Amino acid sequence: MAASSLADISERCHKIAQSYLQIKEPSSPIIRETQDAIKLTQRLVLNDIFPRWSPFNGEISFSYNGGKDCQVLLIIYLGCLWEYYKSNTNLKQFPLDTLKAVFIDQYQTFHTLEQFVEFTKKRYYLSLYESDRNHNKSLSMPEAFHRYLVDHPETKAIVVGIRYADPFAQDLKPIQRTDEGWPDFLRLQPLLHWKLSCIWSFLLYSGEPICGIYGVGFSSLGDISHTLPNPHLSKKKALPLFYEWEISHRGKGVVNCSPLSSQDSHFQNDEYFPGWYLLDDSLERCGRVKKHKS
Ligand code: FAD
Ligand code: MG
Repeated sequence: MAASSLADISERCHKIAQSYLQIKEPSSPIIRETQDAIKLTQRLVLNDIFPRWSPFNGEISFSYNGGKDCQVLLIIYLGCLWEYYKSNTNLKQFPLDTLKAVFIDQYQTFHTLEQFVEFTKKRYYLSLYESDRNHNKSLSMPEAFHRYLVDHPETKAIVVGIRYADPFAQDLKPIQRTDEGWPDFLRLQPLLHWKLSCIWSFLLYSGEPICGIYGVGFSSLGDISHTLPNPHLSKKKALPLFYEWEISHRGKGVVNCSPLSSQDSHFQNDEYFPGWYLLDDSLERCGRVKKHKS
């Protein structure tokens, strides 16, 4: 059932994270590792981020593109928001109706992903700034964030769902300023330490809807003309499912994938396992076609 407010979905996300942390005698080492990953992210958000930038006055924004990583971070972040409200304020009412977020709708985003962003924007009560959807999709990321900050000058810090396994991310820190060539703000990156397997374990356990493109062999979502199903997910080789327990614990045993949009229906296939069959972080982007310099 859909939540009736940001307070409601935040409380629900808090319960999801807490119930994952309470799994006793985990059926796999991945679950134990994911429990540690959740605890560290919660500590970073509650102890290092919220006391410095209030989550309730617009200083923090959340970068969201519907991908699995920022969705996992969003669920944990909302749960932290609930915990912070309950234990650090005397407020009688949850002080926010929506969560400030930003989506840079880049050139050639999967249509199914765009639809998923629209759907989850409502589900998670995001007040989502969407850059230039119908006009100029060719803005670079730094240019797009520059425009965002012109429109939202109160923003001091932006949450990013980047992980150490992402390209050029191995030296990043949980809290750091942007690099030269980017508008000046703080990047909040409390998901860096998460492995791919932990992302899927938590997301599949949560029972939350997942972007449908992952269901048809994609493990990482770049732009549509440079992203293919991951060859390491080909059904030519049998792959084990590591998350049977996570998927079945809610009783239904079905993954809640969003429908493919009609424009993406040609991606429907029986040749690839879903993205969550991939365990190895280093193979996550093997469906990305290298872009040639023009
Ligand atoms: P993904 O897993 O697709 O993205 C990682 C995370 O980036 C996502 O979870 C999401 O939180 C965010 N994100 C990605 N794409 C979008 C989008 N279209 N709209 C909104 N959020 C998105 N690089 C630098 O070299 N120097 C910087 O100072 C720098 N600052 C950044 C500040 C912000 C707020 C963001 C979002 C990115 C920044 N980057 C910077 C780029 C970043 O390091 C990644 O390269 C970039 O997010 C693309 O990620 P990905 O495709 O590799 O992986
Ligand atoms: Mg990612």
